[in-house]
Amino acid sequence: MKIGIPREIGPGETRVAVIPSMIPSLKHGTHEVLVETGAGIAASFTDQDYLQAGAQILPVATSLYESADAILKVQPPQIHPAFQKDEAELVREGSIYVGFLAPVANPDVVKIFTRRRITSFAMEYIPRISRSQSMDVLSSMSTIMGYKAVLLAANRLGKMLPLLMTAAGTVPPATVLVLGAGVAGLQAIATARRLGAKVEAFDPRPAVQEQVKSLGAVFVEMELPENIETADGYAREQSAEFIKKEMEAIAARLPKVDAVITTAQVFGKRAPLLISEEMVKLMRPGSVIVDLAAEQGGNCALTKPGETVEEYGVSIIGPINLPATIPVDASRMYSKNITTLFRHLFPKPDASLDFNDEIVRGCCITHAGEITNDIVKKSLG
Ligand code: NAD
Repeated sequence: MKIGIPREIGPGETRVAVIPSMIPSLKHGTHEVLVETGAGIAASFTDQDYLQAGAQILPVATSLYESADAILKVQPPQIHPAFQKDEAELVREGSIYVGFLAPVANPDVVKIFTRRRITSFAMEYIPRISRSQSMDVLSSMSTIMGYKAVLLAANRLGKMLPLLMTAAGTVPPATVLVLGAGVAGLQAIATARRLGAKVEAFDPRPAVQEQVKSLGAVFVEMELPENIETADGYAREQSAEFIKKEMEAIAARLPKVDAVITTAQVFGKRAPLLISEEMVKLMRPGSVIVDLAAEQGGNCALTKPGETVEEYGVSIIGPINLPATIPVDASRMYSKNITTLFRHLFPKPDASLDFNDEIVRGCCITHAGEITNDIVKKSLG
């Protein structure tokens, strides 16, 4: 197969789907890899790096899309500014597309893919099972988000994170509260601890307590709801009564903390609202909230996605696409995820697929002119 890596065109997108060091693994002795000129430059990878790794460089996106049997991307297809055409229309009829897709939010792309008989795979639909861990792009990007959230908070705070005992006196450590201790939350805890902060954290899944404590953070004790975890390890949506109690526990902590990193999410739902406007008023001036759930509705009532607002002396940061702010390592991790997935989907030189495989079934969205994914089929009819 000829595998094409186009330059990402989304505003602010700096990642590239495959970095040069993954090219030999992607070629796997049988495929050719074509890269659009400049595809890796925002992530510090030059055309020369790709050439040395055994890829070919193509000067324009259209020639790449026309030649490739499979396209590997980061962002879902969007209108290409140079051609005023949706990238989904540029992908060659009957070929393969792998990348983030957000199919329910992008029904037009799904329609184009079925009409043009594109076999498409959504990275975010890969089942999160043990054997797909190295393909799990939600985990790898969450790791980056958790890390960067702490740096954003540290940068905005008027104080340092660690305890320092100096000739100029003792500087007390900052206190960071992390809400939600999944992949992003645990990385936020680890990063804040590495920088020397005192860290407290809460998550309603009981299994998380030990993980929080093993990172040197204090678990905020409260009565946990029963039967909170789904078979997939996700938190279920909690009752209004539980959220009320949780908000009371958080409110009691807020006057004492310098930064709050919120990461709480419930799969397929709006993120739970955990910090109301009244609760923000309880924080000391100069405190910071970094809301990693900003794009899913926000854990804080005052969050504005993509903005930093200051209310009652508190900075509320609602970052979007944080992985793109660390393009080298975000691309490195994404690249490993997508290359492993591609090799799993197509273990042989041809494009035949094994729909008996849970991973193939889970992330394949369209094939042979049909929507193959049940969730997407249900949502889009
Ligand atoms: P996520 O991004 O959906 O949610 C983030 C966190 O928010 C979760 O830990 C959740 O429990 C928490 N949360 C939900 N409601 C909350 C509330 N009211 N207050 C505070 N926190 C709340 O989750 P994620 O980080 O992508 O993954 C969560 C879990 O899924 C993992 O820890 C793991 O158990 C499982 N997982 C399994 C695999 C695998 O087996 N390959 C891979 C990744 C994740």
